[in-house]
Amino acid sequence: MQVFYANQFVLPLPPGHRFPMEKYQLLRDRLAAELPQIRLMRAEPASDGELALVHTPGYIQAIGDGSVDPKVMREIGFPWSPAMAERARRSVGATIAASRAALREGLAANIAGGTHHAYPDKGGGFCVFNDAAVAARLMQAEHARRRRTPLQVAIVDLDVHQGNGTARIFRDDPSVFTLSLHGQKNFPFRKEASDLDVDLPDGTGDDAYLHALERALEELSHRFDPEFVIYLAGADPHEGDRLGRLKLSWDGLEARDRRVFDWAWQRGLPLAFAMAGGYGTRIEDTVQVQVNTFSAAVDHALRWHNRPR
Ligand SMILES: [Zn+2]
Repeated sequence: MQVFYANQFVLPLPPGHRFPMEKYQLLRDRLAAELPQIRLMRAEPASDGELALVHTPGYIQAIGDGSVDPKVMREIGFPWSPAMAERARRSVGATIAASRAALREGLAANIAGGTHHAYPDKGGGFCVFNDAAVAARLMQAEHARRRRTPLQVAIVDLDVHQGNGTARIFRDDPSVFTLSLHGQKNFPFRKEASDLDVDLPDGTGDDAYLHALERALEELSHRFDPEFVIYLAGADPHEGDRLGRLKLSWDGLEARDRRVFDWAWQRGLPLAFAMAGGYGTRIEDTVQVQVNTFSAAVDHALRWHNRPR
């Protein structure tokens, strides 16, 4: 399975900043040490043209040269630096590369990405550009060279926060279905309308969550006929998360991931996934949730590899 990274560009943060930037390196080290089935590949940065499939030229330029409105930078939550701008581009590039690889091989991933709070003209909540949205539009454009009907893309967002940027970007686009399962009382406090939103109360545990996921996937299948899936496997529904407010156990999260992979497998759908959020009180716990996602993914990739052709 091909897995793309962008974390050679470490974003410098002031001491005590609440974003756990080290998690990307920790995850990459553990994947390299524990899952030899994974081929770690460096991603190329997304180009201006690729970003402009979703983002406004003015915003792309402002992120590039540091002229972003200070209010927007405060909403993003990172200080601007050239490294921040480069990292944001690389992270989108990693989801693009994972999407292309998934469309060839069935499954691939970005060890970062899932920056679903980014809108066309502004970022927010630690998100600069919306990698899943850019990748979805780019895969559609590449697909359109061969076929007249648009590639039907489902974005399955199981980060604990609503995918508000993604919902807004595709609000009037019937070729992309946005599903978001998230904490009702969690950020963002003004939610957008996804194609399907599932609001979960504080403290939701494994059983109620998995039941809600099952119903949501059923409804998605009933209303939409996807050909490609982008999955945001956020680690922040975990009970050890500082920001999550839900109570999923290790087993519950692993069952969640396996359910999404099985659902895609049963329908023959190629799937690319990205990490999205994770703010464990212990950073090792967030990384463990993510390693478990990759373990489940390796099993799923093997099925694709061994399938009859
Ligand atoms: Zn989140």
